[in-house]
Amino acid sequence: MTNRRNFIKSASLLTAGGLLAGTTGAAHASSPSVASSAASKKKLGLQIYSLQKELYDDLPKRMKELKNMGYVNLELAGYGKGKIGDVEMMEFRKMAEDAGLKIVSSHVNPSIEGVPFLMEYKKEILPQVKEYWIQTVADHVKLGCKFLIQPMMPMCRTYEEALLVCEFFNEAGKICKDAGLLFGYHNHHMEFQRLLKPGEEEKFANPFAPKGEQIQDIFIANTDPSLVCFELDVYWTVRGGNDPLAYLKKHSDRIKALHIKDVAVLGQSGMLNFENIFKQMYKNGIEDYFVELEQMPDGRTQFAGVKDCAAYLKKASFVK
Ligand code: MG
Repeated sequence: MTNRRNFIKSASLLTAGGLLAGTTGAAHASSPSVASSAASKKKLGLQIYSLQKELYDDLPKRMKELKNMGYVNLELAGYGKGKIGDVEMMEFRKMAEDAGLKIVSSHVNPSIEGVPFLMEYKKEILPQVKEYWIQTVADHVKLGCKFLIQPMMPMCRTYEEALLVCEFFNEAGKICKDAGLLFGYHNHHMEFQRLLKPGEEEKFANPFAPKGEQIQDIFIANTDPSLVCFELDVYWTVRGGNDPLAYLKKHSDRIKALHIKDVAVLGQSGMLNFENIFKQMYKNGIEDYFVELEQMPDGRTQFAGVKDCAAYLKKASFVK
């Protein structure tokens, strides 16, 4: 978790400042208008990374609190060697079920012997990475997951590196599919950097035209649709200078889950139009979304933030 957090932090620093001015035209703010009497039927999902260490101070109690807030689906983070955090995974599943929560998804980043957080892919390590996925998939079948999602982008300094990553994703996808799981990729904002094809010169007449292809688009175009799907993080898509609504419309066949995220508590920044996002999500037939919250900026607990996010979604008339 520390690695992931630091990575995101440093990635944010690399690109902070200019990305918000991107093409986010369709993502203006809106607020929920009518309190819904059907709030209890809403299938709110939560990425448990949002709670950080607070989740583990009393796990069974904390899970019941989440259910009381309105969450019913969980997306895990922190899987490793048969554990979620420091908790045996089947014990974790039982506690979730006892609280009325279902484990739907899990974020997992592959590792190999000697490299606990694998970020640089080379063709020769593919067999080791496949071994990792075989074990990891078997564990997640036991957890009852629907999705297994890779959340962090391996290094893509060149177009060729991005294509190699796609090859690894396809292989992970095959292993997942054989076991009845959906393999997916979750974006941050660095996936919206552009890469030029090998030998491609900067031949564009318009000096202001974007040069090259966005890594996210390279991933979508070069992975097998029957093996690899995408979990679109709407916040990071905006931070990457792109419109999540446009992505949802353009790639309705590839995006199968969403991260519903804002700067902090949902709906407070004015940066995202959640009404448009949810409407398009339902139109696309997407059933699964997970609230995600980074560090609360105001000193309140992560639990308080996650509770406010649930309240926002329960009140929102556009959330079914
Ligand atoms: Mg996310």
